[in-house]
Amino acid sequence: MKYTRIVVLGGGYSGMMAARRLAHNLRGQPVEITLVNTAPHFVQRVRLHELAADRSPLRFSMHDVLQPNGITFMQGLVTALDPQTRALTVKTAAGDQSLGYDYLIYALGSSVDMSVLPGLREHALSLASEATAAQLRDQLPSLAQTGGRLLICGGGLTGIEAATEFAETYPDLKVTLLTRDEFGAQLSLKGRTYVRQTFQLLGIEIRDKTVIHAITADAVEYDSGSLAYDACLWAGSFSVPTLAREAGLKVNTGGQIITDDHLRSVTDSHIYAIGDAADVSAAIGTPIRMACATALPMGMHVANELADRLNGREHRPYEFMYYFRCISLGRKAGLIQFVDANDQPKETIMTGRAGAAFKEFICRYTTWQVRHPRWTFLPRRPAADRAAHKASQVVGVR
Ligand SMILES: Cc1cc2nc3c(=O)[nH]c(=O)nc-3n(C[C@H](O)[C@H](O)[C@H](O)COP(=O)(O)OP(=O)(O)OC[C@H]3O[C@@H](n4cnc5c(N)ncnc54)[C@H](O)[C@@H]3O)c2cc1C
Repeated sequence: MKYTRIVVLGGGYSGMMAARRLAHNLRGQPVEITLVNTAPHFVQRVRLHELAADRSPLRFSMHDVLQPNGITFMQGLVTALDPQTRALTVKTAAGDQSLGYDYLIYALGSSVDMSVLPGLREHALSLASEATAAQLRDQLPSLAQTGGRLLICGGGLTGIEAATEFAETYPDLKVTLLTRDEFGAQLSLKGRTYVRQTFQLLGIEIRDKTVIHAITADAVEYDSGSLAYDACLWAGSFSVPTLAREAGLKVNTGGQIITDDHLRSVTDSHIYAIGDAADVSAAIGTPIRMACATALPMGMHVANELADRLNGREHRPYEFMYYFRCISLGRKAGLIQFVDANDQPKETIMTGRAGAAFKEFICRYTTWQVRHPRWTFLPRRPAADRAAHKASQVVGVR
């Protein structure tokens, strides 16, 4: 019997969701599903700042979770993709291996680009991976003992979560956050005010509208001066692997695979792209952010979509909307920033311990979803909003 070979690249939120839900949807059918990932265990990326603050996020073995569903786990680094021959090269402990596929789900996620400024790679730390978060974890206790200066560069949600987590865990640390834009610009006025107040309570200094040019061994240089540090964390924006671009797939300026509204690469319909590595925004007329909140629904959708395709059924296009952004501000406070259908902040927020508890629930829920992919739902637009959205797409308004 001929088996259909499905390969999932990446075992993050989107890849794990896609592989496990697909295995469930296609149970008993002639398919071989293989998931390739560099690490042998699942990494809770949304908790890497907690790891750096010496907490231990739950980990579980990829093999243990995938094998009972009949999914083969291959530990290795994907180094090449050839869409013409539908083949991959994977660097494993046993050497380079070739892996063929009939359908590919590209879910390689993102990382932090440490080449964007001079001196960044040499002198700054990041929360790009467990290994880099662990470097910070090992430095922070001794730094705090001597009242050391920690500079966090980047005022996005990662920078905000990291600053508050470290300042709360190590009250003697002098934490300063530098950001190019106005602080909290992605939040509503109420949300921004609340985060500023929390920063003040934790003694974190904010220097916004500061454009950094370079990092030296002991200072950050910006447009109007420099600031000395003992440790520097780079919390700049995420960047995606170059594999798709190198393979000749159509990508956006950031390197994300451009997909149609079924999450298929516009270059090759046998390749699906999901999570941080995918850009479906033009196809569905909705802005998409790199987030776990995006990755999991895409993983769910692609599993349903591909199962229907293999069974000769038409699947409805991908449709999605955000309801909120969840931001931890240490362990005792959090901000839930509600957003509209275009992901713009509303004035409705949830704060304090209720916000912290809600955020903690969401973090646990994301891992639960990865482990129980059958019992999840896709956050779709409410029916009334769906009709308005369709109409706005027809006349090209967003
Ligand atoms: C500190 C921090 C806090 C965050 N907090 C939030 C939050 O509160 N809410 C939210 O929605 N999002 C949050 N995010 C963002 C979120 O973690 C990502 O958007 C999400 O993980 C993307 O999921 P993914 O499946 O696309 O990719 P990932 O989770 O990044 O998984 C990709 C996987 O592919 C593997 N991989 C990459 N390249 C290769 C290769 N060449 N070969 C083999 N394997 C490879 C990686 O090792 C990884 O396991 C946070 C991120 C950070 C760093």
